[in-house]
Amino acid sequence: MKRYDLLLVSFVVCLFAGTLLSCTGKAKDESKTITVTIAPLAYLTEKIAGNNYRIETLVPNGSSPETYEPSPQQLVRLSNSKIYFYVGHLGFEQTWLQKMEQNAPNTTFSKTSEGIKNLTASHHHGDHVHEGIDPHVWTTPTNLKIMARNIAAGLSDTYPEDREVFTKNLKALEDSLDQTDHEIRHLLSGKEKRSFLIYHPTLSYFAHEYGLEQLVIEEDGKSPSPAHLQQLVRTSREKNVHTVFLQKEFDRRNAEVIARETQTQIVEINPLDYECIRELVQIAKTLSHEAESNH
Ligand SMILES: [Zn+2]
Repeated sequence: MKRYDLLLVSFVVCLFAGTLLSCTGKAKDESKTITVTIAPLAYLTEKIAGNNYRIETLVPNGSSPETYEPSPQQLVRLSNSKIYFYVGHLGFEQTWLQKMEQNAPNTTFSKTSEGIKNLTASHHHGDHVHEGIDPHVWTTPTNLKIMARNIAAGLSDTYPEDREVFTKNLKALEDSLDQTDHEIRHLLSGKEKRSFLIYHPTLSYFAHEYGLEQLVIEEDGKSPSPAHLQQLVRTSREKNVHTVFLQKEFDRRNAEVIARETQTQIVEINPLDYECIRELVQIAKTLSHEAESNH
């Protein structure tokens, strides 16, 4: 009987210790926790920082970075992070940055889009119309490289002991982004001035970089009016559009109406995916293949 009790106690203790360990995760050292706004930033940061750091992403997969509200637990974890990497100009950040800074006085706030040539938002959308800057900067390899360099600089300031590792990892990431840019240009070569439809204007920078035209379904961040839809249908026919890109956070119905009227295909994309580089290549492949099927 006693022996059984002892076994049970040791089992419970192991379970408890196990839970503690798994809670602390990879980075046993609390000071090596880094917070970021969206998954593509987590991807860049993880590639540069390596495995000894723990990355917390504030906006979960499937939530809109324009309207997300952080949980109290997330705010506590942010205040325990030495550094927070944010995009700049995202609706979520516009609303929360000041409050988050007050709440986390020991955390360095680092804007990763510093140095990017901003595009102005051609439409008002969501609540990220502040300053008229289009916030979706992470959709080109060129911009991702600028963001990666900013992240590496921020990490080196915060953790100078690992500077060499960051520099080496940054170089590898830059090479991979150069390759991605090359691959996208190859896929889209000869297809300049091609137009595509999209629900929410996440691909402004991508379109600008590769000479494409983005036709936005959403109107002022809300469902489009019948007049706007009719105009889009006309424009899509004129411009021989083949694809409607749709992000899963947004309503499918209006995209379906346009796709039916113009006999275009709906393609689901997730530019907020952790694997942001793979996602960009996939978008280029879609635009590349649509042309082939047409000839
Ligand atoms: Zn957006």
